[in-house]
Amino acid sequence: MRRYCASWLAIGLSAGVLSLSPAQAADVPNAASPSVSAVTPKVEAVTAKVVAWRRDFHANPELGNMERRTAGIVAAHLKKLGFDEVRTGIAHTGVVGILKGGRPGGVVALRADMDALPILEATGLPFASKVMQDYAGKKTPVMHACGHDAHTAMLMGAAEILAGMRAEIPGTIMFIFQPAEEGVEGEIAGALLMLQEGVFDKTKPSAIFGLHVEPGPVGQIDVRPNGFLSGATSINIKLTGRQTHGGRPWEGTDIINLTADVVKTLTTLSSRQVNVFETPSVVSVASIQAGNRVNIIPGTAELLGTIRTFDQERMEFLKNMVRDATQRLAANYGATAEVTFQEVARVTANDPALLDKVLPALQAAAGPQGVKTNALFRGAAEDFSYYLAAVPGVYYILGSTPNFTTYAAAPTNHSDKFDIDEAVLPIGVKAHVLTALTYLETIAGK
Ligand SMILES: [Zn+2]
Ligand SMILES: [Zn+2]
Repeated sequence: MRRYCASWLAIGLSAGVLSLSPAQAADVPNAASPSVSAVTPKVEAVTAKVVAWRRDFHANPELGNMERRTAGIVAAHLKKLGFDEVRTGIAHTGVVGILKGGRPGGVVALRADMDALPILEATGLPFASKVMQDYAGKKTPVMHACGHDAHTAMLMGAAEILAGMRAEIPGTIMFIFQPAEEGVEGEIAGALLMLQEGVFDKTKPSAIFGLHVEPGPVGQIDVRPNGFLSGATSINIKLTGRQTHGGRPWEGTDIINLTADVVKTLTTLSSRQVNVFETPSVVSVASIQAGNRVNIIPGTAELLGTIRTFDQERMEFLKNMVRDATQRLAANYGATAEVTFQEVARVTANDPALLDKVLPALQAAAGPQGVKTNALFRGAAEDFSYYLAAVPGVYYILGSTPNFTTYAAAPTNHSDKFDIDEAVLPIGVKAHVLTALTYLETIAGK
């Protein structure tokens, strides 16, 4: 999960309408898959291992595209479990395991991310990271400050349970352990590179599920249909005109006034030129570079910014508006404008029908706070969105703060004090197992 806004958690609080305890969920007609009661003891049996893996990964974090140790442990685990296929080295360090069930059926994918962040850990945990890695040419402290250590360990636990049940499984389960979810400067996102390297070419799932730990009561699952995490697109604008003397602006292009007009126009697009009641969106200009003296009006200016929204069509619409508005303003001043965009992540949008179908599985896995299906939008971006562009899926958030009191008090993802309550680990394992089984048992092929 990539953080772009210091206050995203403040707006990311849940406003759920549906909240069922596991006990209540068991009473829901049509609840979960028939396997829930069989899965619970299997989760309990694997939890000690999942905790140990999580602590080991936490003490040995690796930056994006450098997850060699982590990937090695994952691949060895899947091989030991007797997976039908274990592919390694996809998108640098990605691992994909294929587990074929004993009965015919569809294909479903589960995903975990493995990368850590360049942060000096300050949790004081006995297994806190002391690791340093090369980052941007210098030795940098590395920390699992986004919980991907937990994600990797939970999916390894789910793999162990599902491998033990394989004779009964109707279909195939694909386990994706991907690198570089946080992004690596100058390189494309881990999920996108996995797809470009053909992760779905040979075995294509018809659904994918993934989760993320985040501040919140332990085991509370936050989710919503359609756009959930924002898409993010970077804006780069180069304005070019004729440089002139500050005392004689009429002899050149007034590029500074043009820059001011561009900023004002772009930042009102998302509040005045689109239906704000449909879906939230933001266009921000975050950097301006122009000029270097009191008496020179420069010939060029560069502006950087970002577009965030929760609907892919809205994103395309705003990109066109940013380009057209900038070019029209530039033309008014006799300047030229070069406008380019860089996609950081697409909108992470959950398939509503699929969410309905696997909701009983999430309810059966969730902690006492249950599942909130109307969670607020998250102003963070996820490269899971690239899988969702290829196949329908559901991405959900797992509350995981130790001794949770308030969101404001909980260290956020990417904080040097970010930590999880390990009680969330069996909940995540169960959610993985039950979403996959529920999908294969009740959806695929029907
Ligand atoms: Zn993150
Ligand atoms: Zn993350």
